[in-house]
Amino acid sequence: MTAVRTTCAYCGVGCGVIATPTGNRTATIAGDPDHPANFGKLCSKGTHLGETIGLEGRLLYPMIGSERAGWHEALDLVASRFAATIAEYGPESVAFYASGQMLTEDYYVANKLMKGFIGTANIDTNSRLCMASAVAAHVRAFGEDVVPCSYNDLDAADLIVLVGSNTAWCHPIVWQRIEAARVARGTKLVVIDPRRTETAAGADLHLAIAPDSDVALFAGLLSEMRSIWRLDGRYLADHVTVPEGFWKGLPATDVARICDIETTDLQTFYDLFADHPRTVTLFSQGVNQSISGTDKANAIINLHLATGRIGKPGAGPFSITGQPNAMGGREVGGLASMLAVHMGFSDAERDRAQRFWQSPTICTGPGLKAVDMFDAMARGRIKAVWIMATNPAVSMPDARMARVALANCPFVVVSDCVAETDTGRYAQVKLPALAWGEKEGTVTNSERCISRQRGFMAPPGDARADWWAIAEVAKRMGFTGFDYPDAASIFREFAAQTGFENDGARVLDISGKVAIGDAEYASMAPFQWGGTSPFANGYATPDGKARLVSVDHVSRVDGSRAFPLRLNTGRYRDQWHSMTRTGLSPKLSQHRREPLVEIHPETIQRLRLSDGGLARVETAQGSSIFRVAGMVEQRRRELFIPIHWTDQTSAGGRAGLLPGQDRDPVSGQPGFKNTPATVSAY
Ligand code: SF4
Repeated sequence: MTAVRTTCAYCGVGCGVIATPTGNRTATIAGDPDHPANFGKLCSKGTHLGETIGLEGRLLYPMIGSERAGWHEALDLVASRFAATIAEYGPESVAFYASGQMLTEDYYVANKLMKGFIGTANIDTNSRLCMASAVAAHVRAFGEDVVPCSYNDLDAADLIVLVGSNTAWCHPIVWQRIEAARVARGTKLVVIDPRRTETAAGADLHLAIAPDSDVALFAGLLSEMRSIWRLDGRYLADHVTVPEGFWKGLPATDVARICDIETTDLQTFYDLFADHPRTVTLFSQGVNQSISGTDKANAIINLHLATGRIGKPGAGPFSITGQPNAMGGREVGGLASMLAVHMGFSDAERDRAQRFWQSPTICTGPGLKAVDMFDAMARGRIKAVWIMATNPAVSMPDARMARVALANCPFVVVSDCVAETDTGRYAQVKLPALAWGEKEGTVTNSERCISRQRGFMAPPGDARADWWAIAEVAKRMGFTGFDYPDAASIFREFAAQTGFENDGARVLDISGKVAIGDAEYASMAPFQWGGTSPFANGYATPDGKARLVSVDHVSRVDGSRAFPLRLNTGRYRDQWHSMTRTGLSPKLSQHRREPLVEIHPETIQRLRLSDGGLARVETAQGSSIFRVAGMVEQRRRELFIPIHWTDQTSAGGRAGLLPGQDRDPVSGQPGFKNTPATVSAY
């Protein structure tokens, strides 16, 4: 059968995949040698995609309550309940909760319906839990949410600094690229992570800093670079605005104390940075999932701007996204904090979006971010919500509260390809979505590369594309402008909006694709918007200059004796999110069969726990049972647990019950890391 070029369903590396159907819902999977993200390589998750495409557990028909329904009946109900809710309580009483698993075309139609036609910006996404702090930091520093790096920069760097990223497990193909650069050109590697992960184990330097001390570390490094005359004065003068009072001295002894590391190790880091101007600092969830995530990201960006290590081969601050299409969602505006195509909510921008959409109304300002959205549900302010391709009953911080919110919301619609999820239990209507291998559309990876995702299997049962379901509801609500025959027509409209009255101030502009024909869309090769140096013509600010942002270290305030330990969460190498797909693969399940709480052996001894026994991990929000794994790779008095297990898969191991709702004040991203906790024998 014909081989189909598509992209991997999992992480933000965005690897190209060649899928060759071999029969009834079976396929062989290989890496695409021509895709610029992976050049033919795949990690374990991508390699075993073929084991996850069966129909086990699929939602195949619309459901109203526990009864199978037809699409017309279900769509009529969704449209009428949303319309009635808006008529009675106004547009701010409804919400849409989207996902970085959605394709850009799905995201585009959802964003257009909510912001341009219903007239509320209450559309947010699980990407809020993933990289919203990086988005906020980009906007503060550059004026636009643009990642200024490409994977090629990893090949050209002399020093790579990984911050809060277990790249070897979570972005394995990027990791292979880093390893190749180390062999080929002796690139130095510094890993900054409280845990000695597989990524950290082979680094030239591992700084096991105290959680949430990153701002002090990078502000201290900047202070050191200034004191030894390693700032780039010309770059600062020409391209950067420095706020008054920005420069502060931060002695190495203070930094070492805050970060809880040896001053000699800190000095080694300072020396490596000073000696290697071609530096890429790649950061991920350890930076973003923090109550100071935006400041952490800006501390990294400040350093690169002040030393002129940006916009050149092998240099730059590089936020790497978790999900396969977090970036595409950001592009269309699928966050409550942005309007569309990287526009904000000024009068001029709202007017521009409304004229482009020819819509009857437009939202008045930012909407509710994820945690606030669920809080509004719990308080009865959101009375109808549509949740698409995500499982917030598991993934939201303080998941117990998310369940209270869902139970309290009078009308919950869930679009998913999985029949039974923790969130689906709260739905009045469930709509069957297409899965990977069936969908048609585009995704954007961490280096701004847009790739086609292509179907190679017939949709099963009554499953339909998410964009189609949204458009059908929009039409039933009486809105025009949603007559899309296919994904290609949506992509063309999205491309047109990126260029609409864009005088070059916004980097995101793919309007060159406006006239793309259906055949060209079908065969479209991966392409990177913004090019390898997206700010070559100036930053996206009124004066064309980037901005240094004043940031200060803040420590998490909690001296509670009840919770003297710190809890961090993260992923396992071979699992993805709540395992609805990777859990179907026997091979992937062999790596880690159950959820472990990783604890330093000395802490195990002090707390009289038993290595290999069961223990209850408890925070102010809740508790769950894990098997204890003694690991010297852990810092003392800290715990690490995986995020993957749910009500559907396990009685214990429920990480989602433990983090609280504290969030970054700028980005609204929850602080999943560094939660005060305790652990006791079970
Ligand atoms: Fe898929 Fe990410 Fe692995 Fe690439 S690195 S194969 S995108 S999971």
